Amino acid sequence: MSRIDFKQVCKRYSPQAPLTIHNANLTIADGEFCVFVGPSGCGKSTLLRMVAGLEEISSGDIAIGGERVNDLPPARRGVAMVFQSYALYPHMTVRDNMGFGLKVFGANAAEIDKKVRQAADILQLTHLLDRLPKALSGGQRQRVAIGRAIVKEPRVFLFDEPLSNLDAALRVQTRLEIAKLHHNIGSASMVYVTHDQVEAMTLADKIVLLRAGEEVQTKGSIAQVGTPMDLYHRPNSLFVAEFIGSPKMNILPAFFQSATPGSARINVAGQPFDVAVRADHVAPGAKVTMGLRPEHMRLADAADDPNSLPAQVVHIEKLGEASLLYLEIAPGAPTITLKLDGTTRIRSGENIRVHVPAQDLHLFDAVGDALQRTVDLPV
Ligand code: ADP
Ligand code: MG
Repeated sequence: MSRIDFKQVCKRYSPQAPLTIHNANLTIADGEFCVFVGPSGCGKSTLLRMVAGLEEISSGDIAIGGERVNDLPPARRGVAMVFQSYALYPHMTVRDNMGFGLKVFGANAAEIDKKVRQAADILQLTHLLDRLPKALSGGQRQRVAIGRAIVKEPRVFLFDEPLSNLDAALRVQTRLEIAKLHHNIGSASMVYVTHDQVEAMTLADKIVLLRAGEEVQTKGSIAQVGTPMDLYHRPNSLFVAEFIGSPKMNILPAFFQSATPGSARINVAGQPFDVAVRADHVAPGAKVTMGLRPEHMRLADAADDPNSLPAQVVHIEKLGEASLLYLEIAPGAPTITLKLDGTTRIRSGENIRVHVPAQDLHLFDAVGDALQRTVDLPV
């Protein structure tokens, strides 16, 4: 009922303009929580608004519940949208704001009252029903906007950066409420737009990472679709690898030495590294890029530890539970970040040696595509 299919969806805002959305193919299952994430301007809102019917589809099809909706007006699509700006009516109480959509559709007063009460109960807004929006905090206003969507009993909820106007603490709290709402709401699908990879990782069943820029025209808008753990452990490209994860993955230039079955030997800053990827097709001497996450590196046991590098600590950030160490591995090489336990006693200026297990390294070819991994990582 609430499944959404995108078939070769394209969007061009004007005949001369390049494609804003190029060749989006995607299925969002019944009841799934799907997050569109990507850099600013990559077309997340555009794609969402095409589902809502607020933006025309230039070519391709969108279907909801198996029914093509390209030409269906927004009100007949069974969707409800929550925006970054809450867009509440300032002169109406919370109760009237939440019930307004139903009233416009001609629902009777008793039915409206019942649905508003139910939604208020889910969102803990019952004690605020008679207040005006100006007497609410930002988080409460956003909950009213979500309540207004709930009373419509849509088959699809569409959220466009709903937490961006909230302060950090409230963002985390409201994020949790949205996750709970998804849990309690039954079979409705949710499509949620954000530029924040942490929101995407914490909320999504499925992440759709969109790319921006020139590559959209050649490769299409969608860089990768998968579960949060897929994108974290198995990024298909340098772009995905750098977008997902905080602090960002370290990226180092390397060159390829040799392949053994299931493994590649590369050279990074004069040191040999084995990476658990399939590389039989790569020519010796080819330029490649190694990726290593700050949290996957640790201090080496000994100077001859395989897969290890000498480094000098140039700066330390103490976060409490963890410390971030910024390392110089060779003159002119990019500074890399190492994440250690907050209790580390290492000081700035010290020389250390870091080790990265072969299965935790990523390798990308000259055009930034990931080499296929040969070790199975968590799902
Ligand atoms: P995002 O939500 O990912 O930040 P948008 O979907 O808002 O991105 O915009 C994608 C691109 O389309 C941007 O380059 C933006 O300038 C352009 N765009 C958005 N809306 C319009 C419009 N109504 N007319 C022309 N260009 C638009
Ligand atoms: Mg947007």
